[in-house]
Amino acid sequence: MSLPVASAPRPEVGETLDLAIEWDRRYALMRLHTALHVMSCIVTAPVTGGNIAPDKARLDFDIDIQLLDAQKIEQGTNELIARAVPTETVWITDEELDARPELVKTMSVQPPRGAGRVRLLKIPGIDLQPCGGTHVANIGEIGGIRVIRIRNEGKRNKRVEIVLA
Ligand SMILES: [Zn+2]
Repeated sequence: MSLPVASAPRPEVGETLDLAIEWDRRYALMRLHTALHVMSCIVTAPVTGGNIAPDKARLDFDIDIQLLDAQKIEQGTNELIARAVPTETVWITDEELDARPELVKTMSVQPPRGAGRVRLLKIPGIDLQPCGGTHVANIGEIGGIRVIRIRNEGKRNKRVEIVLA
């Protein structure tokens, strides 16, 4: 199997391709992504940005930076992770989502509408929000996180960066 390179010609529509997931990379992304869901329940402020890489992830919050305490965020998030709760995918209609705007924590990114239904990630007792990403089946799989940096990235962007512990 060959890996795609930028200079390679694009596949034709209808062409048969073999696809493979780089599982180690995917699983790290799944663990970090799900960790951000959990962390967003410890830092309760509007989310203004975010990014996930295989080795680290971050969320930006619209919050007074003085309220961001790395140790507290780390401890609170890890306490929730230790509950080892199974995650669930649930679907609601566009109308149900419109009726519950509090479900959307991201200020600049609204979930796509028009398909008639929206996918939510539910971590029972912890989090419920629209998300089309990949998640671990049980938050215990995250293991734990460490906050590596808290930085001011703008008036409404106070950035919390984490790695897997
Ligand atoms: Zn998600």
